[in-house]
Amino acid sequence: VIGAAIVVVGALATATGLAQQRNFDDVEVQAFQVQDNVYMLVGAGGNMTVQFGDDGVLVVDTQFAEMADKLLAKIAELSGGKPIRWVVNTHVHGDHVGGNERFRRAGDAIVAGNVAVEVGGNAGALIVAHENVSLRMARPGPNQPATPAAAFPTDTFFDEQHELYFNDEALEFLYQPAAHTDGDILVYFRRSDVISTGDIYNTTGYPFVDVARGGTINGIIDGLNTIIRLTVPRDKQEGGTMVIPGHGRISDEADVVEYRDMVTIIRDRVQAMIDEDMTLDQVLAAVPSSDYDGRYGSTDGAPQRFVEAIYRTLGGQ
Ligand SMILES: [Zn+2]
Repeated sequence: VIGAAIVVVGALATATGLAQQRNFDDVEVQAFQVQDNVYMLVGAGGNMTVQFGDDGVLVVDTQFAEMADKLLAKIAELSGGKPIRWVVNTHVHGDHVGGNERFRRAGDAIVAGNVAVEVGGNAGALIVAHENVSLRMARPGPNQPATPAAAFPTDTFFDEQHELYFNDEALEFLYQPAAHTDGDILVYFRRSDVISTGDIYNTTGYPFVDVARGGTINGIIDGLNTIIRLTVPRDKQEGGTMVIPGHGRISDEADVVEYRDMVTIIRDRVQAMIDEDMTLDQVLAAVPSSDYDGRYGSTDGAPQRFVEAIYRTLGGQ
């Protein structure tokens, strides 16, 4: 949590000039159309993906609770006031699930038959996530606040792939084991041709491998390769399948390939050092990320945290 908080505050401070104090008053929500009725909303915390149509609104990730009013207002403006039906969580971190409770209460699930009787009318939006997100919420780590009941996922799955058909579009939720955490999913909008990646991919820095929550470097690389397998570039141009990162700007396949190559090269360097029985201190002193630190490691301690996470999850002693 502390690692994630530092990354978030660092990114926020760089992006908006805010000081250390967490104050969301001045944060504006910006909406970027990605393709068709899929938008990326940028405020504070992780990027939010919004898809809307006749069935209502589906969002991927909910930023921080303090951002909920502004996000809901922007979504109402974009969608013409359509109800929030689904919330999808890419993983458990607070900057991606903080608004869950507000979105659930503001929303209105489509229910019918026995289910409608059971829930007695409006039960709020439904929240879908991998089972491990629920398990992590139920057992918060040190420094992690308890999760309110209404913020928990209502629909969890524990297999590799989960599907939903919404607004004439097939969505796939693809589990990526032991990547950024142990509960990451990619959200693939098949008709709009957009992938929302959560924090397996970002454009602002090295990936954060949350070792305490089951993340590993090889899982991150597997996840990046899954994104690359799903994306198709437009012929000889930029574009094609669009990628919404956990943090940063909208990308296409070429951006993800460059990032995957960078992560893989640094992983391979650390592996070579482990093979030579180098200690963590020796590896850190050798700075295996040095040629990329200017681009990806500008926040304080980011290169060291990244290299240490690689070292530990590759089994370095
Ligand atoms: Zn995260």
